[in-house]
Amino acid sequence: MSELSFTPSDPHDFLDVDGLLDNEEKLLRDTVRSFVADRILPDISQWWEDGVFPKEMAKDMGALGLFGMHLDGYGCAGVSNVMYGLACRELEFGDSGVRSFVSVQGSLAMFPIWKFGSEEQKQEWLPRMAAGEVIGCFGLTEADSGSDPSSMKTHARRDGSDWVLNGSKMWITNGSIADVAVVWARTDEGIRGFIVPAGTKGFEAPQIHHKGSLRASVTSELVLTDVRLPDEFVLPGVASMRGPLSCLNEARYGILWGAVGAARACYEAALAYAGERTQFDMPISGFQLTQQKLVEMMVAIQRGSLVALHLGRRKDDGSLTPEQISFGKLDNVRQALDIARSARSILGANGITYEYPVFRHMANLESVFTYEGTNEIHTLILGNAITGRQAFKP
Ligand SMILES: Cc1cc2nc3c(=O)[nH]c(=O)nc-3n(C[C@H](O)[C@H](O)[C@H](O)COP(=O)(O)OP(=O)(O)OC[C@H]3O[C@@H](n4cnc5c(N)ncnc54)[C@H](O)[C@@H]3O)c2cc1C
Repeated sequence: MSELSFTPSDPHDFLDVDGLLDNEEKLLRDTVRSFVADRILPDISQWWEDGVFPKEMAKDMGALGLFGMHLDGYGCAGVSNVMYGLACRELEFGDSGVRSFVSVQGSLAMFPIWKFGSEEQKQEWLPRMAAGEVIGCFGLTEADSGSDPSSMKTHARRDGSDWVLNGSKMWITNGSIADVAVVWARTDEGIRGFIVPAGTKGFEAPQIHHKGSLRASVTSELVLTDVRLPDEFVLPGVASMRGPLSCLNEARYGILWGAVGAARACYEAALAYAGERTQFDMPISGFQLTQQKLVEMMVAIQRGSLVALHLGRRKDDGSLTPEQISFGKLDNVRQALDIARSARSILGANGITYEYPVFRHMANLESVFTYEGTNEIHTLILGNAITGRQAFKP
């Protein structure tokens, strides 16, 4: 029997998963990858250390068509869900905060207006949001209502032809830099979504500081004190938790792609470092224990890439279910977090510095693990799906 010959493999896409993409998809991937290389990577560790997000980048992102890119009309790019996913993957290779900025704008602020808004509301807001001239945020979580948002206390009551809102929201991405907030509130008619322009009397958005994660992303509280809005500012198309939950599904879909990008950034940094770092007179990539870590990372990234692409194709043909999105969010994010921690160990002491991207990604992924449904909540969604028994409440 002849010996098996050694064929060099591509360590960055071992199974050639991207070979399953068509030319248009590859072009989009390469365009966003170049944008990240040119505009994000040179400065991201400084932004992260300083705790800032450069809001002025929004117009350039808008010009690339990144906002609400999978939506049709009103200035949106109208590309496929796979292309939207690829954009999220490439953006999160740069930083989870940058991908969060795009996810919140498109999937959480623009999507509810696009899906549940009146024609006038769509015309008023969506073209400027798609262009990055208007920044949006999404207010659902409250200090005492996180995993169970249906327990929200923020409420709105009719007063003549107006609505009056009172309450507060917590952990709101883009809150302090947003020009408009989509705020979900309890009403006599059910849970309703309100378009709250920044600057409305009684509306404040103080920034949350001292974060150890998603530092290149603005996170805020929203405070509403007798905020008075005419009826034209309520989203007419929904009056239940179906409204915010459908937005979360859109955002979770982007996250399951994005996590693969963050994982790839950590793996590539670890692979390069292991090839150069010498201990005991040999590169540490030659040690079996290091190889095991690198192989586990590579296998998990390839698996996550296949899951993301499969779910993207299902979303494009209309067959994707919310539970399948939970599958992707649960597994791709937890794998990315494991990969980041393992990559950090390969970098040794250097791994704790901002000179390499790994620690930043690892810290960011702690937030990604928690937001848009925690690991536990997605486990319970899947548990319910396969047993028919919900275990959220005793
Ligand atoms: C950086 C960042 C940005 C965010 N951006 C936004 C935003 O833009 N808009 C927005 O509305 N929200 C946002 N969030 C909020 C986020 O969605 C919530 O943090 C998340 O839903 C979890 O809620 P919580 O933090 O209150 O945790 P809790 O719900 O209090 O959960 C605490 C722990 O208990 C577990 N737990 C809860 N219920 C159960 C159960 N039934 N069974 C088992 N375990 C359970 C959870 O899994 C978790 O481990 C953001 C959060 C972060 C960190």
